[in-house]
Amino acid sequence: MLLKENKAFFKVCFDSMQVGIIAFNLKKEIVLANTPIMEIFNYTSEEIYNNNINVLLKSNGLINEFIKGKNTEKFKSLLETYGVKKGGFEIPIEVSFGKMEFEGQFYYKALISDITVRKEKELKKDILNYQLEEEVKLRTIELEKVIKKLKESLNKEKDLNNLKTQFITLASHEFKTPLSAIITSAELIIKYADLNRIDKRDEHFLKVKSKIIFLNNMIDNLLTLENIESGNITPSYTSFKFSDLVKDIINNTSPFLKKKQQIIFSNNIGDYIHQDSKIIKIILKNLLFNAIKYSNKDILIKLSADAENIYFTIEDKGIGIPKTAQKFIFQRFFRAKNAVYYPGTGIGLNIAKGYLEKLNGSISFESTENKGTIFYLTLPKLTVEKQ
Ligand code: ADP
Repeated sequence: MLLKENKAFFKVCFDSMQVGIIAFNLKKEIVLANTPIMEIFNYTSEEIYNNNINVLLKSNGLINEFIKGKNTEKFKSLLETYGVKKGGFEIPIEVSFGKMEFEGQFYYKALISDITVRKEKELKKDILNYQLEEEVKLRTIELEKVIKKLKESLNKEKDLNNLKTQFITLASHEFKTPLSAIITSAELIIKYADLNRIDKRDEHFLKVKSKIIFLNNMIDNLLTLENIESGNITPSYTSFKFSDLVKDIINNTSPFLKKKQQIIFSNNIGDYIHQDSKIIKIILKNLLFNAIKYSNKDILIKLSADAENIYFTIEDKGIGIPKTAQKFIFQRFFRAKNAVYYPGTGIGLNIAKGYLEKLNGSISFESTENKGTIFYLTLPKLTVEKQ
């Protein structure tokens, strides 16, 4: 007899398949199963034939669908579902269904593989992928932050460079006038020394001094501006008498006062303030220089205080700020039309505002063209130590 006609040989082939093969009838009763099916589902041969195919599957959905001939496309490929081992333990399986006819009866067959190991591997891979994705997301966020910071500092650097260029263009022009005045005065000082004109010599010494203070102030502003722009300001707080600081600034501005111009200082507070005196000095100096520069008449400075704040006002009766220019006055390099006949760079008020904000203070003003200007400053006293 040929092997292909040998039943025993058929059985050996059937039972040694890599995949479980099971056949059932229309009532879903199992009519044939190979050894791998017993191994996958942990049943003995006797047990399996007493059972219905439903027992081996977690849900009947797939089988019912196949028997009813629905969704035929779907059944052309392998499907993943869950099988149930003897004892109720669920396992992932891969299954494909088929239909056959034998002696005028229809039967169904299912090819089943246990895919537990593959699924575990997939799960591990999924977990690993998830972790990797999360890691990548995190690193991307970090990277974006670094790029953002780099861009910011690059932009800052660019802004700073632009600023310096703008300032240098302006300042070099502004430097020339006082420098040539200094040279003229110096030449005259030499001339008057020969002639023994002490009064004239002193007059020119004063002029030189005032121009040097002016230049010095301009350089201070440039350095200050750079600090404000790069955010490099950390106020250093000390306790000092505010009115003493104001007096000191007033005394240093006397060479700039015009004929008959005076600074009238009214102060009754005598309070100590815990603030950064260097920064405040720069702010007040800028305001006072402006008041002197933009007016010929007396300048009024007033100090007052309450429990939390010190209030400083400075009033001049000068050229005033035109209404249309008032909203731009704190912008860097802005100069009102009526100010162009006076030396200046347009950065003093910008610095004053930037610094005041750093010290949690504020600045505002009222002005009428050709009548005068009054600036109001508020500064928190912070912790005030009475001395
Ligand atoms: P600068 O005086 O060097 O031009 P500032 O930043 O100090 O720069 O002032 C900006 C502008 O504000 C001035 O150019 C001027 O138009 C106006 N300004 C400031 N203070 C006064 C003032 N006391 N009186 C009139 N105009 C003023």
